[in-house]
Amino acid sequence: MGGPLLLPIALTGKSSPEYAQHTQGEIMVSINDIPFNIDSDYLSETLHIELGTNLSKEFEELVSVVQETAKPKALYEVSFIDNKDTDSITIDDVTFTSLALRKNLDSVNRVFPYIATCGTEVDEIVIENDDLEKKVWLYYIKLNLLQTTIQYLIEQIKQRYKVSDLSTMNPGSGDASVWPIEQLKELFSMFSDVEMLTGVRLTESLLMVPDMSVAGILFTSETSFQSCQLCHRANCPIRRAPFSKELWDSINQDSS
Ligand code: SF4
Repeated sequence: MGGPLLLPIALTGKSSPEYAQHTQGEIMVSINDIPFNIDSDYLSETLHIELGTNLSKEFEELVSVVQETAKPKALYEVSFIDNKDTDSITIDDVTFTSLALRKNLDSVNRVFPYIATCGTEVDEIVIENDDLEKKVWLYYIKLNLLQTTIQYLIEQIKQRYKVSDLSTMNPGSGDASVWPIEQLKELFSMFSDVEMLTGVRLTESLLMVPDMSVAGILFTSETSFQSCQLCHRANCPIRRAPFSKELWDSINQDSS
C-alpha cells in the first residue's frame, strides 16, 4: 500500500508518548494511547449504508464496539544514516538494498523507522454467525483506524522534531522490486521488544500480525513521495498517486 490518507476517524485530545532508550543510545518512542473518534455517519456513507435503517443501527453498534475496544499503537525510532552506497543505505548498522530508498534518502541524514498498528484488541471482536457483511465493515473500520494511527504518528514526529514534510516508504509497497518485502526482517531488527510494546509480530512468511499493521521509514521530503508512483498495479481501489514513469526512469537510470 502507499502512504497515509485523510480519514473519517478523527484524532481527539492528547496522548502521552512513553519513551524508551535503545541499547545503542538511539531514541525509541512507543505510543500506546492514541486518541480517536470514529465518524460512523461518514463511514456509513462510504459503505453505502442508508442512515436510519436497521442496517445502519447494526453498523453503529459495531462502530461503538470498536470505539470501546481498539487500542491503536505506534513505535518509532530517531535514526541516522551511517552509509550511502550505490543501491543501498545503512541506518543504525542495518543495511537496506533499494534504489528507490537510496534515492529518496539522498539529501537526508535523519530518518524515523516506525511500526504502526490498529492493535490486537480490535481483532478479538467476535462477529456473530461469521456475518460476511459485518466482517467487511470491520475490515474497513480497521483500515481507517490504521491510517489514522499513521497520521497521528506523523503529526507527533512533525511537532517533536520540527519537520514539515514527511514521506514514507514501506518494504513491499509499490512494485516488488522497489523495496523487497523481505527487508521487513531488517526493519523489525531495528527495534527491541516490538511484540511487547505494540502486539505486532512478523511471521516467517513475512506477514504482520495483526494484519492491520504497517512498518516503514518516514523521511523528510519536499516532493511528497508515494509508493503508488512506483507501482504498475492496474485498478487498485486505494491508489493514492498515478504511476510516474519519470520517477521510475530516474531511479532506474541511476543504477545503469
Ligand atoms: S497502487 Fe500499488 S502501492 Fe499504491 S496502494 Fe495500490 S498496491 Fe499499494
